[in-house]
Amino acid sequence: MSAPESTTGTAPVTVRALVARGSGAELRVERVRLPAPGPGEVRVAITAAGVCHSDLSMVNGTLAARFPLVLGHEATGVVAGTGPGVDLAVGTPVVLNWAPACRACWWCRRGEPWLCAATTAPTVPRGETDDGVPLHLTLGLGALAEAVVVPERAVIPIPAGLPAAQAALLGCAVLTGVGAVRNTARVVPGESVAVVGLGGVGLAVLTAARRAGARTILAVDVAEAKRDLALAAGATDFLLADDRLSKEVRARTESRGVDHAFECVGRAATIRAAWRLTRRGGAVTVVGMGAKDDMVSLGALDIFHSARTLRSSVYGSSDPDREVPVLAAELADGTLDLGLLVSGTISLDEAPAAFDRLARGEGARWVVTLD
Ligand SMILES: [Zn+2]
Ligand SMILES: [Zn+2]
Repeated sequence: MSAPESTTGTAPVTVRALVARGSGAELRVERVRLPAPGPGEVRVAITAAGVCHSDLSMVNGTLAARFPLVLGHEATGVVAGTGPGVDLAVGTPVVLNWAPACRACWWCRRGEPWLCAATTAPTVPRGETDDGVPLHLTLGLGALAEAVVVPERAVIPIPAGLPAAQAALLGCAVLTGVGAVRNTARVVPGESVAVVGLGGVGLAVLTAARRAGARTILAVDVAEAKRDLALAAGATDFLLADDRLSKEVRARTESRGVDHAFECVGRAATIRAAWRLTRRGGAVTVVGMGAKDDMVSLGALDIFHSARTLRSSVYGSSDPDREVPVLAAELADGTLDLGLLVSGTISLDEAPAAFDRLARGEGARWVVTLD
């Protein structure tokens, strides 16, 4: 696949990008100026980028953000230009990594690159709007755009020829969801699993739980419309998130509750719901990224007596440089099928409407494709 002419080479370029000018402001496709790739940097011509819930959280104020902000952090593309000292060849297909590890900090050295101290640094503006205002980039990427300029360590080479819309998801929803099952919770054959929240990440968790050999997989969502999708993705049952949820889960787990509950929403209420669905001694894995002031309250006696584990899975507790190529190989040989996760492909101009659908909880993942 060749890169569009406007995004090749090493000079600064002007590209179209999805920009939020403020919290709650209307999203617009604008022309933005990207710098030339500097030392150790690459320009990537984006071929597909997902609309992820974290992008929505930046826009609606759930997560703190600086503006104007280019949205997008889950994408695939082709290296279109390189700065000095970069080994990657122009034309290499890549997936973007929103938490590139420094490989030098205390966490990286102990083998936990998903907790890298360097990736939590505040983002500095990069590029500018057409009217000269410095731009901020979602998670350092700003991938809902025709191109990005990023450090070489924020790109991961993948095989050529993968379906772009599915490959884009490897960099966020899939790495996060699959990693939560394989690395964080370590689900083993025969276990029971509940997945709360069936967006892109929740469906990736479901798919991974099925492949891990979980026997009972209960898919939970507030929207009845997710039922068919959940069952197609491998759930053994779909349950509505209502007052009877705990009872329904116990009816399917010999009155105990599930071995593992995955919270894929990022809200105190759903974390508490996931906690209540889990058996004594079971584990709750929080995959959703919630708001700073949304407090979870649990009884001290309950914490002791239930003997449950509550922990989070940041970026699937994964090393993207090692695990994205594995997932890409699984996608290439057909053992990983992400077709169900893609609700539809859309143009960049249709992306604002996809944010509205995401806010209403419709579909799994809408993916912007560019050519
Ligand atoms: Zn994401
Ligand atoms: Zn590090």
